[in-house]
Amino acid sequence: MSERFIFMRYRTDCYHCKQNADQIISAVPYQAQVVCDNCGATRVFIPRIEDVSIEGEYIKIGCYDLWKLIETAECRNCHFTGPHNLTIGCRHFTVRCRNCGFTHFYKFDLEYIAKDEPKT
Ligand SMILES: [Zn+2]
Ligand SMILES: [Zn+2]
Repeated sequence: MSERFIFMRYRTDCYHCKQNADQIISAVPYQAQVVCDNCGATRVFIPRIEDVSIEGEYIKIGCYDLWKLIETAECRNCHFTGPHNLTIGCRHFTVRCRNCGFTHFYKFDLEYIAKDEPKT
């Protein structure tokens, strides 16, 4: 079963270990994840049905920059393989097909650290 939808790496400063490290970004229809390759800090996002945008909800102290990325994927709506816009913030994760505009919305669900000790 090939459920892989988005799988990419993005090198940036990790919000957790503060190192410049690959952040491994993956998404399938029912879940999205961002994992730090250095310290294992993992953020899990789950789909949300309604797009409730509460202003200020996304603003948190210690929040890193919003990531705006582009990755090639096969759209689950129009089945065209082409560029998708990814927008990843502290509290949300969206993937939008640039061909048809179909958008997956995810919201932040939980966070954990996969490994015990970050490299220092
Ligand atoms: Zn890290
Ligand atoms: Zn599409």
